[in-house]
Amino acid sequence: MAIVRLEEITRQFDRVKAIENISFEVPDGQFWVLVGPSGCGKSTILRTIAGLESATSGRIYIDNCLVNDIPARDRDVAMVFQNYALYPHMSVADNLAFGLKMRGADRQTQQRQVQAVARSLSLDHLLDRQPKQLSGGQQQRVALGRAIAREPKVFLLDEPLSNLDAQLRDDTRAELKQLHQRLGITTIYVTHDQIEAMTLADRIVILDGGRIQQIGDPQTVYTQPANRMVATFIGNPPMNIFSATYHEGQFTIAGQTMPCPAALRRAIAPSPGQTFDLGLRPEAIAIGSPQSSPPGDPPEASLSARRTLRERERALLTAIVELVEPLGRETLMRLTFPGSPTPFAAIAPGRVQSQPGDRLTVSFDGDRLFVFDRATGSTLY
Ligand code: ATP
Repeated sequence: MAIVRLEEITRQFDRVKAIENISFEVPDGQFWVLVGPSGCGKSTILRTIAGLESATSGRIYIDNCLVNDIPARDRDVAMVFQNYALYPHMSVADNLAFGLKMRGADRQTQQRQVQAVARSLSLDHLLDRQPKQLSGGQQQRVALGRAIAREPKVFLLDEPLSNLDAQLRDDTRAELKQLHQRLGITTIYVTHDQIEAMTLADRIVILDGGRIQQIGDPQTVYTQPANRMVATFIGNPPMNIFSATYHEGQFTIAGQTMPCPAALRRAIAPSPGQTFDLGLRPEAIAIGSPQSSPPGDPPEASLSARRTLRERERALLTAIVELVEPLGRETLMRLTFPGSPTPFAAIAPGRVQSQPGDRLTVSFDGDRLFVFDRATGSTLY
């Protein structure tokens, strides 16, 4: 097991800075997940730690040992890629033993390790098979097992589940989590998948344009995003962003007004005419019943949510239904404001009886509003 520390790592390819000034320290035994849009530098960070890529500047330490000049094979890290390659002519047992053999482990040690790894990954009944006789998920587990069998100090996993179908992916993700809880090997994991990031990570590192945007535990990055990029990247469907102008205690969004919550007003002291990006997660938008009255009339108090004290800080707005997607336990609604083409999403519990084109009253929960600086994107509230 090991601590992995990156200090101001930059990697430049010709004129492209793939990663810039990356610093973080993964404590011994923790599971960290790197996420971010395509091309943000996730794989480059992983490959640099593995020693498959060299840093243009900065320092990498594994267990307080500077490894910049240590070749990949001597860093005692195991990397598993999305396109894992098993040795096709070898049995599962030989694939699992390969790394141990290369490191000169005796036959007995090899056998013991292979048995232990096969048991922990439910591969024991497949040891005599060849890779082509395995399903995709089984092959992926062998690739993971081959890395585990070496008992590396550090595990580097680059989208290891992305080739699996949905069910297998769920199962293997759960296995991976249990495995980490059992073995406690320091792990850095790259994924595009929100669920993997949220469920596996002790800490999530969110990257954009080669730079770190935020590091935090899953709950923190969800509830306290550092900026608009993190807010819209973490969460599925993503947080809605509305362009709003402030005036006399109210925000105007697409021609409609909502009260600016008092706490928010105190916190950011907006000036008249100032514009902001307001953020609201789909689950913070409640769907009311269809409006029978003509648009422009005050909306009825027909929301399913009961009126509470907080209701005064709820905004009732008119929206048009664009799309209704029943998901079973809940319904995902795609809506627009009249006269505004920009869609936004709302999630309502259960089934919503609505059709595209319907006018609805929607209620914005002022307590769950985020405010971002329009120019920098940083979170103001
Ligand atoms: P994805 O999620 O699509 O795999 P990523 O976040 O892992 O992307 P990287 O593969 O690390 O991103 O790439 C980061 C940036 O560096 C990209 O702009 C990429 O084009 C560039 N890059 C990566 N490797 C090289 C290379 N060998 N030569 C030139 N540019 C490269």
